[in-house]
Amino acid sequence: MDYTFKTKNVEETKKIGYQIGLLCQAGMVITLSGDLGAGKTVLTKGIALGLDIHQTVSSPTFTILKQYIGRLPLNHFDAYRLEGIQQDLGFGDLIGDGGVSVIEWPEYVLELLPKDRLDIKIYWIDENKRDFKVSAYGLMYDSLMKEIL
Ligand code: ADP
Ligand code: MG
Repeated sequence: MDYTFKTKNVEETKKIGYQIGLLCQAGMVITLSGDLGAGKTVLTKGIALGLDIHQTVSSPTFTILKQYIGRLPLNHFDAYRLEGIQQDLGFGDLIGDGGVSVIEWPEYVLELLPKDRLDIKIYWIDENKRDFKVSAYGLMYDSLMKEIL
């Protein structure tokens, strides 16, 4: 199923992330698409809070992956620098394991993504407003979205 919603400031985006994080189960995969500055990392900060992670979550742009431990482990990927890289860096083993994987720039690691996942697209409307389009692939993800909205 597809879902849409809007936020009009950072806090609202974090709150949606928080609600998603609260409901996340082991092995879940969430992909975040959108231009630079869309709010992918902001949403991830909210998801982390919902997973009871109180460390500062910052963009893994240069490291590609940052891991945090909360109620469940969080694997936060930024695949931007993997564009065009054919080599298997082993990230596929982590995606869908016992943690929750949040993946920014999923278009560069499509072959590593499971069929069932929460696919979130963020659109920049103006300085503070964002539109979200969410496709829930699989029952688990669909129930999660239904609980939030
Ligand atoms: P991305 O990870 O998609 O490149 P970031 O999450 O790092 O983007 O940055 C989003 C930027 O947009 C931040 O500077 C944040 O303060 C700003 N922003 C303004 N309004 C919103 C909103 N409604 N939701 C998310 N971010 C917002
Ligand atoms: Mg980011």
